[in-house]
Amino acid sequence: MNTTPGQSVATRLTTQRHAVLQVVQARPVHLTAAEVYDALRRAEPPIAFATVYNALHYLVNAGLIAEVRRLDGVIAYDRDTSPHDHIICQQCGRLDDAPALPQAHLARQGYAALAERTGYQVLGHRVEYRGLCPDCAEMA
Ligand SMILES: [Zn+2]
Ligand SMILES: [Zn+2]
Repeated sequence: MNTTPGQSVATRLTTQRHAVLQVVQARPVHLTAAEVYDALRRAEPPIAFATVYNALHYLVNAGLIAEVRRLDGVIAYDRDTSPHDHIICQQCGRLDDAPALPQAHLARQGYAALAERTGYQVLGHRVEYRGLCPDCAEMA
């Protein structure tokens, strides 16, 4: 076996699921189901919205893409399934990946203190940065 689990799942995808996966993987942004559908509506043969929606669910369950919740509560789909932080614009809701910063590692030193106060065995954390995207900052 020289294939990863992800690759073997990907090769078994239906044409439509594969088309949906390609849209999510091709863009460096986090698309909603509606945006993925927009990108595929002119496909031949056309793909129904319900099919896009079901395919996204399938791909998330298969571990090929990840879900991320936007400020407006809408789920977007992330081609990067590894743990990473996001930065969100408070003005327009734009969502981008945030590169890991050295401070994030320092925060792990707080795990013991957090474990003591909550009784949890702390295994990790995610940071969600808020701010203004370059376009909104320019208009402010
Ligand atoms: Zn913005
Ligand atoms: Zn992301």
